[in-house]
Amino acid sequence: MSWPADYHMHTSLCRHAKGEPSDYARRAIERGLDEIGFSDHSPMPRDDFDDWRMRLDQLSDYVARVDRARREAPSLTIKLALEVDFIPGQEEWVRDLAGRHPWDYLIGSVHYVTESWDIDNPHRIALWKGRDLFEVWTAYFERLTQAAESGLFDIIGHADLCKKFGFRPDADCTPLYRRFLASARRAGVAIELNTAGLRKECREIYPSRALLELAHREGVPIAFGSDAHAPEEVGADFEEAVALARSVGYAHACRWTRRARTTVPLLAPGPAEIKS
Ligand code: ZN
Ligand code: FE
Ligand code: FE
Ligand code: ZN
Repeated sequence: MSWPADYHMHTSLCRHAKGEPSDYARRAIERGLDEIGFSDHSPMPRDDFDDWRMRLDQLSDYVARVDRARREAPSLTIKLALEVDFIPGQEEWVRDLAGRHPWDYLIGSVHYVTESWDIDNPHRIALWKGRDLFEVWTAYFERLTQAAESGLFDIIGHADLCKKFGFRPDADCTPLYRRFLASARRAGVAIELNTAGLRKECREIYPSRALLELAHREGVPIAFGSDAHAPEEVGADFEEAVALARSVGYAHACRWTRRARTTVPLLAPGPAEIKS
């Protein structure tokens, strides 16, 4: 059990990732992981909400594909999950989804800071231009705090996604981080170390060291995710993520089964342990 579980992986159903759960599972075994979890973008009540998630009528198919991967890779523990968008006013929808299948955990993510602006969408990058960056970051963290407080999620996804394209305010964001983390601790929700940021313009794990240090001090637990949108990204940069977590003082990571959390020690793997 050397590597943390990779709990953030997508599938071709969301229309911007490639590969089937079985492909991701094979890759995970090659890389020496013993547990993974699928967390594809969850459907919305209306399929025309946007174009980067599965349709509602595909949800059962998604579960069936994950089950197929489980049968094909019995040596690997495979968890069933969703990455759910937190949008104020849609809490009932999240509860509805939560009851539809035996999810092991739900990741709550903020992508939308308004009804129509998904801040991580490269097609909407023009909307960043001329904006007061601190106002956008404040709106983002305000929603993230609400997501934590909602009690709907086990993990909060990529906690500083607003840095994705490198638009960073000059102002000190510590108060935004603190408010979010205090809510996360009260709600008992974990945050993830998401290595996808290393593959984006910000060139940094989500969240930043500064946010993670505060999270550790506050006692907020952690999980790990590659946010893989292709099988070759499974477990990507986990060496760096584990090193970051340990360097701010974390000694444990979380796993979930049917939404019950357990804690496992965070080991320091040798360089030979991950096969690339
Ligand atoms: Zn995606
Ligand atoms: Fe996301
Ligand atoms: Fe994701
Ligand atoms: Zn994501």
